[in-house]
Amino acid sequence: MSMPSIPDVLKRLEEGNARFVADVPHNAGRDHARRSELTTGQKPYAIILTCADSRVSPELAFDAGLGELFVICVAGNIANTSSIASIEYAVAHIGTPVVVVLGHQSCGAVTAAIGGGDHGHNLNHLLAHIEPAKARCPDGDVEDTVRANAVHTAHDLVDRSKILAKAVEDGFCRIVPAYYKLDDGSVGWLE
Ligand SMILES: [Zn+2]
Repeated sequence: MSMPSIPDVLKRLEEGNARFVADVPHNAGRDHARRSELTTGQKPYAIILTCADSRVSPELAFDAGLGELFVICVAGNIANTSSIASIEYAVAHIGTPVVVVLGHQSCGAVTAAIGGGDHGHNLNHLLAHIEPAKARCPDGDVEDTVRANAVHTAHDLVDRSKILAKAVEDGFCRIVPAYYKLDDGSVGWLE
């Protein structure tokens, strides 16, 4: 199993998402043969930093099988120490060449960040990561802030990780912010 190139990975994600949107998924790579094959290792071609929201499922949205996507779920798809470390592992030790930061329509974390207030120690800490996006969208539009947050997080990954910065600089890895529409299932690249 060799790793596909960055353009090939993006094409594969686009094609999988098109099948999902059209309600004609292949649902491949989810059977006994695939599970058995994966016991000796993994070679996921894409890392997806997604929100924990139950309405967003990367394997479904990209019509991907087991072992294809390295998925990190955290509310608001933010870059914190743990999500960055997980991405660093996949890039540096598995060689995964594409990172998608997947924001989504009607994100509750982004809505809570816009609303402000005290949500308790842990959630306040998480929502603080969304403040830069909130500052860029002063009119408080949720969808604009979701997009700004995905773009900001993509930059944040590079700013806060020497490993990721070097991988991007060397052309080994690309980080792509994206927006998932709940109503039609489409994923659009933001850069
Ligand atoms: Zn969300």
